[in-house]
Amino acid sequence: MLEALRDRLSSETVLRSDEPLARRTTLGVGGRARWYAEPSSVDDLLLLSREAAGAGLPVFYLGRGSNLLVMDGPIEVLVIRLNHPCWRRVEVLPDGLLRTGAGVRLRELCGEALRRGLAGLEFLEGIPGTVGGALRMNAGAMGGWMFEVVESVRVLNGDGGERLLKREELHYGYRHCRELREACALEAVLRAPGRAEAQNIREVLHRYQEHRHATQPKEPSAGCIFKNPEGDSAGRVIDRLGLKGTRVGDAEVSSVHGNFIINRGGATGTEVVGLVRRVRDEVWKQSRVELEPEVLLLGANWEDLL
Ligand SMILES: Cc1cc2nc3c(=O)[nH]c(=O)nc-3n(C[C@H](O)[C@H](O)[C@H](O)COP(=O)(O)OP(=O)(O)OC[C@H]3O[C@@H](n4cnc5c(N)ncnc54)[C@H](O)[C@@H]3O)c2cc1C
Repeated sequence: MLEALRDRLSSETVLRSDEPLARRTTLGVGGRARWYAEPSSVDDLLLLSREAAGAGLPVFYLGRGSNLLVMDGPIEVLVIRLNHPCWRRVEVLPDGLLRTGAGVRLRELCGEALRRGLAGLEFLEGIPGTVGGALRMNAGAMGGWMFEVVESVRVLNGDGGERLLKREELHYGYRHCRELREACALEAVLRAPGRAEAQNIREVLHRYQEHRHATQPKEPSAGCIFKNPEGDSAGRVIDRLGLKGTRVGDAEVSSVHGNFIINRGGATGTEVVGLVRRVRDEVWKQSRVELEPEVLLLGANWEDLL
């Protein structure tokens, strides 16, 4: 269906059909995407999204796949990943500002901030995603949130228009940014809250890393499965009810952190969904708390599955 596009795309743009997605996610689960592309310019990105829209094919923007559960079986979708070097640049601007491509890994961004003595972005370091995914999810850790450090985001809308949105124009909250539900984030300007000696920044990074090592599983996962309910933590609720270790096939509730589901090796999307349902039902039955998934689904809707 998108085959005819090949001649119109730059030779650096990747376009493949029937692409396995499991290896493109941290959980390592799921089937193939009907189409997969890594555009090498805004023009190619536009061409791909327009052609997909014309063919009635949904488009999914993939980052590192670290907050994602891909369902089994072929998925009728065009997955677009901003992985070309043109999306992975970090430019240091005056006044503690950084312009970063949406494909930059948060770890790389923190490395650049460290080299420049820019402090206050350390909370992002251990989140295994890209800038694009962190904007869409308003990722947060250690008391910090992505949108606390965002000045502006350049986006490509579904209709093909490029816009620069200031933070005040964006609607964001706990694990979401409304504008990015449809649009693609191309780049962002972030403001590092302060300056510090590299050694001090390194110490903060080290402290956060130690905390993660002590509290999170090492096996493949998609991070926190559920959003925290009002006034509590989903992990604590699951732990209190003794649900750690619950298993469906190769999907298991981590014994280290109750809000992580780990892949014991051969888990399928169906097994992970089965486990999400089991935990959610049990939590509702025993404590009348309704847990909402934080992890996003590709290939199905949570509303249809829960
Ligand atoms: C071990 C582990 C620890 C984690 N710890 C944390 C944590 O402390 N805090 C936290 O908030 N999260 C955490 N996560 C979850 C995850 O890393 C974050 O949500 C991250 O921001 C997702 O980024 P990603 O690039 O992997 O996005 P993906 O998982 O690839 O995608 C997530 C969403 O972002 C969208 N998206 C991706 N790129 C773009 C783009 N360019 N434009 C528009 N939309 C886009 C996708 O379409 C999808 O809707 C953790 C995950 C793991 C596996």
